[in-house]
Amino acid sequence: AETVRSSAESLQSLLNDILDFSKIEAGKLDLEIIDFDLQALLDDFAGTIAFSGHDKGLELFFWLEPGVPTKLKGDPSRLRQILTNLVGNAIKFTHVGEVAVCVSLEKETEQEALLRFVVRDTGIGVAKDKVGLLFDKFTQADASTTRKYGGVGLGLAITKQLAELMGGQVGIESEEGVGSEFWFTTRLGKQVQGAQ
Ligand code: ADP
Repeated sequence: AETVRSSAESLQSLLNDILDFSKIEAGKLDLEIIDFDLQALLDDFAGTIAFSGHDKGLELFFWLEPGVPTKLKGDPSRLRQILTNLVGNAIKFTHVGEVAVCVSLEKETEQEALLRFVVRDTGIGVAKDKVGLLFDKFTQADASTTRKYGGVGLGLAITKQLAELMGGQVGIESEEGVGSEFWFTTRLGKQVQGAQ
């Protein structure tokens, strides 16, 4: 039963990735703009992802820097999808140590905030010649990745497209055998003053 369940989950996540990617490529992915609380989103996300980190004996940290506005407007589901991709990868490719998520404020105006999310791990890292390619669709670090870790190489391509749709960028710094740092920025609206 466990095997059937995990196969079904892999298939579902693959189908969702392919559908999302096709939607983005067709220019049909519309972002929602609704009020949400970043602190609540991170708390809830940390609660759900904690299980897979805990199963591997990894420490998970979430750090929201003081001064980051939390009463925001944007698409919380897509923001969560980016975090799920990056933190899910960080846990998948880390065998010992920790995964840390840090959110900081890059810039703000009366109406908008540009936030930076960094997901750092102490995992297997990425070889220098592969770092620049990982955000391309269907790209993995090497031919053994699918066999050892699963996946098809769509998660980061979707992450990049979503971050760009949300007015941001993505990037990576990594050292093989030491760990990786994936970051993205996103432009979010601020709720009217007083909501805080
Ligand atoms: P998938 O996880 O389905 O393979 P992704 O697009 O999410 O696809 O990732 C592409 C590749 O980037 C992975 O297969 C892996 O080789 C590499 N990668 C992603 N995140 C990490 C990480 N945190 N540490 C090491 N390698 C990573």
